[in-house]
Amino acid sequence: MPKVYNWQLDRDMEFPYKEKRPKRQFSAVYNINRCIGCQTCSMACKSTWTHSPGQEAMWWNNVESKPFGGYPQGWDVKTLAALGPQPGWDAVKKEDEKAPYGVYRGETLVEAVKDREGGKVAVGYLPTEEEWRYPNINEDTPNEYPAMVDGVTSRGSELPEHQTFFFYLQRICNHCTYPLCLAACPNKAIYKREDDGVVLIDQHRCRGYRACVEACPYKKSMYNTQSHTSEKCIACYPRLEGKDPLSEGRAMISRCNSSCVGKIRMQGWVDDPNSPVHFLVHKEKVALPLYPQFGTEPNIYYIPPRWAPRPYLKQMFGPRVEEAIERYTKPSPELLGLLQLFGSSQLVIWSYKITDNDAIGFGEDGKEIIRVPIHEPVYIRPSIHLNIT
Ligand code: SF4
Ligand code: SF4
Repeated sequence: MPKVYNWQLDRDMEFPYKEKRPKRQFSAVYNINRCIGCQTCSMACKSTWTHSPGQEAMWWNNVESKPFGGYPQGWDVKTLAALGPQPGWDAVKKEDEKAPYGVYRGETLVEAVKDREGGKVAVGYLPTEEEWRYPNINEDTPNEYPAMVDGVTSRGSELPEHQTFFFYLQRICNHCTYPLCLAACPNKAIYKREDDGVVLIDQHRCRGYRACVEACPYKKSMYNTQSHTSEKCIACYPRLEGKDPLSEGRAMISRCNSSCVGKIRMQGWVDDPNSPVHFLVHKEKVALPLYPQFGTEPNIYYIPPRWAPRPYLKQMFGPRVEEAIERYTKPSPELLGLLQLFGSSQLVIWSYKITDNDAIGFGEDGKEIIRVPIHEPVYIRPSIHLNIT
């Protein structure tokens, strides 16, 4: 099997196809700290792409409450269990922009396959119909508070870590650099676009074997019970191509990202040094990939929640959680400015500039598309309007 380089693991790893990176990679950063769990993103996606017969249980974007929620139910626990205990990370090397998390010493899902007879590409499993049925199971459900005496506690939770916690995890297809859905398809029906790294399923080629559903560790390839083909998030590629009349030919962010009420989402290009996403992931290192140890090099990144227990976050986002939370809690002027640009425009922000007063986003052509003040203006009510009763 060929060896490919995975920068999130800072090492070569096995993958069935040779390394071939796109010209630029569709990606996004989600700030978990700001999500209010309103599910507007889920509904925006559903009403656009998955409202037809056969797609009833299909949510390309879902928001689940951790630690107990999951769509399909238990997807991450089951995949972690299938991968088995791993030695973890050698995280000594700290400030490398290209490989900021250290070296992963364990096996990936491809490397963990012990017997390749029968053509098995990666460790995985096929969720049951029951597991797909309740997308928001255990929503808003925290873990139990560790009781002190007879179930009674003397005080509540306090930062930096709450012992009783939950948080919202926003999930779409990661448009992985090494997609296991693509690797597992026996019919070569799945492809990754050279222009933007979007991973798509050719509906004419798909025969509904569900090998992609079994192999995708994030369970973001789904089976349509009417067409008998697999379907998945398409990154709203017509919008990305500037086909939406509102955008006048310019690249537009996807529906889940643009509808976000909490303004927690920033879409961009992780491999373009001018993109806000590149800054957040590679330079500021405040946004981390989800389960990088799976070995797919996922392209959706998360600013981890400040209040959740660190060991729980580390198994989810890798060894750099403490540093990411520290940087988010005491933001640099550039990060503070950039956070104001989240959710500020329906157009893709290709580059940006932070001044003393404004955060400014630019389009592909270098023209300004959005300007947001960094500090809220303060207005003092004149004394003739004083609110005294
Ligand atoms: S998240 Fe799953 S469906 Fe999406 S590209 Fe990665 S392996 Fe494929
Ligand atoms: S729309 Fe935004 S704030 Fe609401 S659930 Fe989705 S990601 Fe969270």
